[in-house]
Amino acid sequence: MKTLLRNFDILTTSKSSPIKGGSLLVNGGRIVEVLETRSPVPEEGIERVIEGRGRLLIPGFVNSHTHLGMTLFRGFAEDLNLEDWLEKWIWPAEENLTPEEVYWGSALAAVESIKAGVTTVADMYFHMDQTAQALEDSGLRALISYGIIAPEMSSGGEEEVKTGLALVDDWDGAAEGRINAALSPHAPYTCGDDVLTELSKAAEEKGVPIHTHLSETRDEVDRSVENFGLSPVARVEKLGLLENEVMAAHCVHVDEKDIEILADYRVLSLHNPTSNAKLASGIAPVAKMSTEGVDVGLATDGAASNNDLGMIKEMKLAAMLSKVSNGDPESLPVEAVYRMAVAEDVDGFGLGKLGKIEEGFKADLIAVDRNSSRWIPEYDPLSNLVYSGKSADVDMVMIDGKVVMEEGKVTTIDEAEVIEKVREIATKYGRIRQSKLSNTT
Ligand SMILES: [Zn+2]
Repeated sequence: MKTLLRNFDILTTSKSSPIKGGSLLVNGGRIVEVLETRSPVPEEGIERVIEGRGRLLIPGFVNSHTHLGMTLFRGFAEDLNLEDWLEKWIWPAEENLTPEEVYWGSALAAVESIKAGVTTVADMYFHMDQTAQALEDSGLRALISYGIIAPEMSSGGEEEVKTGLALVDDWDGAAEGRINAALSPHAPYTCGDDVLTELSKAAEEKGVPIHTHLSETRDEVDRSVENFGLSPVARVEKLGLLENEVMAAHCVHVDEKDIEILADYRVLSLHNPTSNAKLASGIAPVAKMSTEGVDVGLATDGAASNNDLGMIKEMKLAAMLSKVSNGDPESLPVEAVYRMAVAEDVDGFGLGKLGKIEEGFKADLIAVDRNSSRWIPEYDPLSNLVYSGKSADVDMVMIDGKVVMEEGKVTTIDEAEVIEKVREIATKYGRIRQSKLSNTT
């Protein structure tokens, strides 16, 4: 379908000022032509025209690390460290999850993500067939993976790897190429050496990326050094995992040597500032990693540790934390944090070319309304977007050339039905939470 987006202020890349009153031609899911101000606009063969009315047009946000199904546990266990949060609350509750519940939790996350201007998610969880289905239904672009947890191949590993591979076989390239799959050792601390080696080989054979958690807490690093004599980064390097395309969530506790390894292997480090702050895991040295040549993506992590899936506030927090932790107001400036949020520098990882409004790039676009008081005055739209914008300012979302949200309404799935289903499911987890609370007090 040939679509014309007319009279928008178009931010093509982080390095340029918006084209005032520009237009854009989209066809077959891709950007065909970017038309400068007052250029003649083609009329022939256009099936749909979207009027900009002065809105800002930017590439959609890429939430590079999340667990969509975890919206079911939003607000379930608060103000805990990662270990207590996972081991005492989240993992025991997750044992009760049914595939159908994960579908609805993922659908809720998909609605929330789209409304916040997210067009791509990298998701790792379980009952992933249901998440994949919700993603297909929603119209989102995604890199999905099953989170493998196994101490050894002989104790659960065989089965886990099989499940991970089945997801790749069933979904990689699905939904007209919108859904791709990765392999996910959940983390080096939840997977044995032989499981990590096996996954490394399998990823190479299948030609898919690896998506994992890495060096999230001080404790994880200390235990790794104690048990293996190596940091988690050095350990996965030794096991050959980094020979693949690797996306590593967190990288909070990485030293000079770790950063050198991440840069050498072109690992994409995924920064989750809210989740890391909330669980008191720490602040990833994002500015330092970037200077040393490590590419960084921005992410929300799951809704249970965030607690929302919006990327605008994530940009702001990333910038603020970097400035505070480095004592340097120039650390992680507006353009840098925006580039991370739209994955402007990322090419590959099953996601392809995203993050710029240029010919040949995917037509994953969002329109931002700048009429609310928080956008006035506007000396620099990018700084307003990062520092005063809100998810609610996004009012049109296009993914793969198709409009999936307009005037604040998601067009692909029924938001009211999803909300009703999740409220129903939450009564079960409310009971589980209540009985845990009464047992602990
Ligand atoms: Zn995570």
